[in-house]
Amino acid sequence: MSKVKVAINGYGTIGKRVADAVNLQDDMEVIGISKTRPNFETQLAYQKGYPVYTLADKMDAMKKAGIPVAGSIEDMVANADIVVDCTPGGVGEENKSLYEKAGVKAIWQGGEEHELAGVSFNATANYEEAFGKDFVRVVSCNTTGLCRVIYPLDQQFGVNKVRVTLMRRAADPGDIKKGPINAIVPNPIKLPSHHGPDVKTILPHINIVSTAVKLPTTLMHVHTLNIELDKECSASDVRSIFEKQSRIRLIGQGINSTAEIIELGRDLGRPRNDMWENCVWDDSITMHEGELYFFQAIHQESIVIPDNVDAIRAMTELEKDGARSVAKTNKAMGI
Ligand code: NAD
Repeated sequence: MSKVKVAINGYGTIGKRVADAVNLQDDMEVIGISKTRPNFETQLAYQKGYPVYTLADKMDAMKKAGIPVAGSIEDMVANADIVVDCTPGGVGEENKSLYEKAGVKAIWQGGEEHELAGVSFNATANYEEAFGKDFVRVVSCNTTGLCRVIYPLDQQFGVNKVRVTLMRRAADPGDIKKGPINAIVPNPIKLPSHHGPDVKTILPHINIVSTAVKLPTTLMHVHTLNIELDKECSASDVRSIFEKQSRIRLIGQGINSTAEIIELGRDLGRPRNDMWENCVWDDSITMHEGELYFFQAIHQESIVIPDNVDAIRAMTELEKDGARSVAKTNKAMGI
């Protein structure tokens, strides 16, 4: 069977990681990536062998910088079975007519509204909903991290109510423009935050309320979760549910911070020190007066990458069974 042809529109933090993850799969291939500027990322993409496409008015700039261009973004889209749009939040929306005109399937990221695609996706929680669909949105890093823990708890014990505080990194490590650099910013101040409703685009029946603050760090987000469950259970029952989830990693052994999780990523030899799994602090899992509490850390740059691969597999009907796709993606990526 021929491989599914995948184009990556927008080759930044998420796009370059999706390209590398797709490249590792045996049932799909990267037929091109798009860049708007000839910088070091464009040069490295070319050196990796990804055909580089660009905006019509940027072709000369690319050629002048010594980067051969395979064609325009329209050419790339026309050659693809599916586009993974990884342009900045809000930009992806403008590309919808391009994909519709070309008759290609498209995946957007969490920076776009749910309504743009009509289906929001998390491989653990609703793989089947994306099967055969033309347009899907892979939810944000925070929503992905929340769905991965809420779904299996709901399946096993029933979730009555979730309260979560998200402590968000201010910017990605390579981003020199955003802040704060010396403040804690309640964001949004008006409560609750949008993260709870975003979880409901995937798990509509879950009663969830969220608040969020931005911190002067770039490494990871941290969530404090408090969950009321329908059935009585112990901390060790919860631990054994999490242990069975391939995209949840229980951490301990002297890991007391996000910095040490990133060090673990380096020591594991992960590309770009990526941590594709939710990192739940084992010792934090606590039942108090019948309610569950725990901390988890989310590596914003990489957590959605395996879910993008699974979304491609569901939408192009390569695999009907979500668990099988997750296992295949995990094996190829080394999760
Ligand atoms: P980014 O800024 O790192 O990368 C975006 C890339 O798209 C850049 O290379 C930019 O040059 C390029 N681009 C801009 N306009 C373009 C256009 N018109 N055509 C083609 N390329 C264009 O952004 P990112 O952090 O990778 O975010 C991408 C999406 O993923 C957003 O929706 C974001 O909300 C979502 N997301 C980001 C993170 C994160 O933490 N970085 C996590 C999960 C989801």
